[in-house]
Amino acid sequence: MRFSIAVLPGDGIGKEIMEAGVSVLKAAEEIVSGFELDFAHFDAGAEHHKRTGTALPEATFEACRSSDAIYLGAIGLPDVREFPGGPEVSGQVMFKLRFDLDLFAGVRPIKLYKGIDSPLRDMENIDFVVLRENIEGLFASYGGGTLVSDEVATDTMVITRKGTEKIVDMGFQLALKRGGRLLDQKRVVTCTDKSNVFRSMAFFNKVFHDVADRYEGQVERDHVLIDAMTLLMVQQPQNYDIIVTENQFGDIISDLAAALVGGMGMAPSGDIGHNHAMFQPAHGSAPTIAGKGIANPLATILSGSMMLDWLSDQHSCPEAKKAGELIEQAVARTVKRGVKTVDIGGTSTTAEVAENIIAQMKAHA
Ligand code: ATP
Ligand code: MG
Repeated sequence: MRFSIAVLPGDGIGKEIMEAGVSVLKAAEEIVSGFELDFAHFDAGAEHHKRTGTALPEATFEACRSSDAIYLGAIGLPDVREFPGGPEVSGQVMFKLRFDLDLFAGVRPIKLYKGIDSPLRDMENIDFVVLRENIEGLFASYGGGTLVSDEVATDTMVITRKGTEKIVDMGFQLALKRGGRLLDQKRVVTCTDKSNVFRSMAFFNKVFHDVADRYEGQVERDHVLIDAMTLLMVQQPQNYDIIVTENQFGDIISDLAAALVGGMGMAPSGDIGHNHAMFQPAHGSAPTIAGKGIANPLATILSGSMMLDWLSDQHSCPEAKKAGELIEQAVARTVKRGVKTVDIGGTSTTAEVAENIIAQMKAHA
């Protein structure tokens, strides 16, 4: 089976981490027979906007739409704005792809690998997924907020039944697929919101329970208010399996969750819809360390592993899943051996980490 992959390295460390990510995917394709990957590289992002006045050319968007999956590095630079004082141009890429390809689910696996120091003492068994609704919530206001006067500005939170059902259902499906990784092997979807205060959030919570009813007896449900969630995620992260939430809350707790397992360099993500998907590290372009060859490529490489898993499910191609698992196991082995970049306490370069992962894949294929 052949898959076309649109590669968008983007800005800052994007180029370096994507070089690492693509090299690992190419190695996986060589080692595991039964599938092939056709990579096509495209320019997009803040640097491209500086040169051409557009962050995502229409032709590149079309290429993304017609590819089997999108693999993205990092988009955006803090000083490149849509207009002075306005939002970063990264939104013109990220939100365009999320909204127009209906990538409604932000899937962010949070896993603590052996060899990574969590800032939490004596912590083991952190293995959960933050599932962020990706295209409505407070972000539905993107480009449409109102500067009412020189004194007041507003943005609107939008929660729809359809959008909420889609994300919550994906949460329950994901819980079934993961098969219960908590210590007691329960499958649990936890809804986190602010339903005690906001009408929109109470509605999100109601739709959550409507969907949960359909999984009665198969997957358990749980509910935690978002403020309590930031406490509990730090105190007892091992209690969570799938956490499903609104867009803005998901954005925030994703970074908190990443911190528990070694930081942004350890946090992969998928922006997933029913027909399209994009995979990228959860971090940004980290311009302060760009060009030095020291960025952590693991979030990107693990995103590549997620991409193979998604392609496998989408096209019934077990070989791609096998390749994705091989990558993840090689990441675990590499970290355990202490081959790590500076951000997670090592001294290795981006390229050294990628080379070691490829060597581990070859040794354990
Ligand atoms: P964005 O607005 O795009 O999310 P940000 O301002 O939140 O960007 P990030 O690029 O996500 O910034 O990163 C924040 C900091 O974390 C960076 O300055 C960098 O020091 C560190 N960081 C992020 N990604 C990596 C990585 N892959 N390797 C090493 N350090 C990283
Ligand atoms: Mg950020």
